[in-house]
Amino acid sequence: MIYLDNAATTRVRPEVLEIMTEYLSDNFANPSSIYAPARGAKGAIDTAREQVQKAIGADRPAEIFFTGSGSESINWALKSVATQNAHRGKHIITTAVEHPAVLVTLQHLEKEGFEVTILPVDEFAQISVDQVKNAIRPDTIIVAVMFANNEVGTMMPISEIGTHLKQINDERGKDNKIYFFCDAIQAVGRVPVDVNALNIDLMPISAHKMYGPKGVGALYVRRGIKMQPLIHGGGQERGRRGGTENVAGIAAMGLAVELAVAEMDDTTKKHRELQKYLIENTLKAIPHSRLNGHPEHRLPNSVNITFEFIEGEGMLLLLDSKGICASSGSACTSGSLDPSHVLMAMGMPHELAHGSLRLTFGRDTEKADLDKFLEVFPTIVERLRQISPLWEEFQRVGNIDALLGK
Ligand SMILES: *Cc1c(COP(=O)(O)O)cnc(C)c1O
Repeated sequence: MIYLDNAATTRVRPEVLEIMTEYLSDNFANPSSIYAPARGAKGAIDTAREQVQKAIGADRPAEIFFTGSGSESINWALKSVATQNAHRGKHIITTAVEHPAVLVTLQHLEKEGFEVTILPVDEFAQISVDQVKNAIRPDTIIVAVMFANNEVGTMMPISEIGTHLKQINDERGKDNKIYFFCDAIQAVGRVPVDVNALNIDLMPISAHKMYGPKGVGALYVRRGIKMQPLIHGGGQERGRRGGTENVAGIAAMGLAVELAVAEMDDTTKKHRELQKYLIENTLKAIPHSRLNGHPEHRLPNSVNITFEFIEGEGMLLLLDSKGICASSGSACTSGSLDPSHVLMAMGMPHELAHGSLRLTFGRDTEKADLDKFLEVFPTIVERLRQISPLWEEFQRVGNIDALLGK
C-alpha cells in the first residue's frame, strides 16, 4: 500500500505505540488514585502536558488542556470564549476555507445570536491581514484563522494577523480584547508554530495528524482566558473536562508532538524535495492539470492538483485499485456530491473542483512511492477522460473557458 493521505490521518509511530501499550497494560492505574502506579499515570499526563507546551512555545503547562479530538478543542474554544464575552460583543471573524469543525461551530453560534463575518479568500486560498483589519468592529470578540489549510496546504499570514491584533488589543485594553483563535492542526509538527511569537490566544491541535492516535486532542489557552467547563464531573483537567483521563492517548500525544517537532527540520527538507518533484512531474506528464493552493506559502507535505474534465471519485477508485491511497478535494465523506468548499471559495468552477486530487506525505513517504504514482496515474487520467462527456465536448470546442461558459 502506498499511503498518500497524511492530511486525513497518520500512522501511529512505533515509539508512540510502545508508550500507549505501556499505559494500557503495565501502568493502567487511574491517575486520580493514591497508590504508586497511579502517581506514574499522573506523571505521564504531566509529562505530556509539558511536551505539548514546549512544542508550541507556550509559557506554562497549565495553558494546555487535553481533549477527545481536534474538533472537540475547536468546539470548546469557540463556544466558551464566545459565550463568556457575549456581553461586550457578538461579532466573530473567520475565513471561507476553515475546517468544518470551525465553520459549523460558528454557524451554530450564529443561531445563538452571534454575527459571523466570513472573509473570502484569493485564488490561492489565502486572506490578507488587510481583510482582517477592515472587518474588525468595536463588537468583534474573536478572529478565527487557520494556520494551514487541510485541503490545499496554503498557509495563512498568521504572524502578520497576530501582530496586528496585538496592536489593536493594546489600544482596546485587556477588558475589550479580541481573541486570536488559530486552528493549527495541520501545522504543528510540520512547520514551526510558536504561540507567543505569533500572538495566538487559543490553538487546537490533534494527535492523529502527527503520528499519534485518533481521539486525542489538546487546546492551548493563553493564561488569563477563562474557560467554561466542557464536561461537568470529576475535577480532571482542572475542573474543565471531567472524566477519567485517556492516559495512554495523552502520553502518546505528548511523545508524538515532541518527536514530530524534533524531526521537523529533516522532514521538512525531505518533503520539500518530494513536493517539488511530484508537482513538476505530474504537471509535466498530464496536460490540462493545474496546481491548487499557494505556490510557495504551502505546507511541505501537501500537493493538490486539478485535472480538467474528470471526476475525483473516479481517480480515487482507480488509484485504490493500484494500492494507492489518496483523497479528492471534494467533501464526499459527508454523503454530499458538492465539490470542496475550499476550492469553490478559491473561485474554481464546479466542473474543475470535482477533478481535484490531494496527495499528502508522511514521515515514511519515499520518492519510490511518488514514482509508482507517476507511473500509473497518467493512464488513469487518460482512461477517465475517454469516458468524460466534458473531454469529448472539449475536443470539439477546443477551449476550456468557452466550455465553462466564461
Ligand atoms: C483533522 C483536522 C481537524 C479535526 O481534527 P480531529 O482530531 O480529526 O477532530 C480540524 N482542523 C483541521 C485543519 C484538520 O486538519
